[in-house]
Amino acid sequence: MTMIGTRVRGKTNRRKRRATSASRSPNSDRRWAIRKSGRVSVLQSAALSKQKWLAHGFSTRAGGASSLPAWASSRKSPAVLNLGFSDWDARASVEKNRLRFAKALGAAGMKMVPLRQFHSDLIHVIDSAPGGPLRGDALITRTPKLLLAVQTADCIPILLADPENLVVAAIHAGWRGTLKRIAEKTVGRMRMLFSSRPESIIAALGPGIGRCCYEVGPEVVKEFASQFDAARDWFDGPYDALVSGEDPNPLPWLSMVPPGHQPPEPRAQLDLHAANRAILEGAGVLAKNIDASSFCTSCRTDLFFSYRREKITGRQMAAIGIL
Ligand SMILES: [Zn+2]
Repeated sequence: MTMIGTRVRGKTNRRKRRATSASRSPNSDRRWAIRKSGRVSVLQSAALSKQKWLAHGFSTRAGGASSLPAWASSRKSPAVLNLGFSDWDARASVEKNRLRFAKALGAAGMKMVPLRQFHSDLIHVIDSAPGGPLRGDALITRTPKLLLAVQTADCIPILLADPENLVVAAIHAGWRGTLKRIAEKTVGRMRMLFSSRPESIIAALGPGIGRCCYEVGPEVVKEFASQFDAARDWFDGPYDALVSGEDPNPLPWLSMVPPGHQPPEPRAQLDLHAANRAILEGAGVLAKNIDASSFCTSCRTDLFFSYRREKITGRQMAAIGIL
């Protein structure tokens, strides 16, 4: 009951928001290009594509060797490019997909370095391929031929490049990692270890769940409000009421629910792209050097995987490496 109510509210708001976000964000499609390689298409940031010393890209859904279980009995099962190991998919298919993705980036000769992600702020700086997957949520390297890769299905993938010192980084930022300022900490590590200057760093924020669809409860709103002065700008909905703990729906008829059901928890909508953009700018990265994709993974399940929308789904990858 609660879930249905929430979904409907998200949907009514979506159309309205899409229009405003298009006029609000200056970085529309000219900052991004789709590159097709065989059956696989990758999304690339124009600013990173100009850097001829690196390969990078964000995967899209189609063109893989995997079939989602929801489609298993259908003859029209579309093949998907699932890049994360999961119960429903064969390991061999994921490995085949990863090879196709790397090839589409022009990084077939690189060693892919994925992470075992856990919504932390743990950052690994590597100069060789680790023996097994590292536990953490960001990778940094200055070593060529290592393809740093993060997996997402709604969270925000962030790729960084420092063209002066030839350093790259890949970051996985969901709400927990964003709250822990993982992007800022990654820039900090690049400064400390490689003398990177934030004003020369290029950042690309890939497809993730948009403010149109990403509903969160009062505990998330309160956490952000306590950590960031600008947090109000990143939310839609009853932000102030949720922060102060007031009931945003005080009218009694609004909380009249059928017997045996709880009234829906009040929720707000969070813009993880805006939050991470602000965090990067706070770390000294220039606004003009940040490309943020306007794709919402939950709105565009034709192009991307969305855990929120689909529950059982694949993982896309964002990857960057020095040639
Ligand atoms: Zn959306």
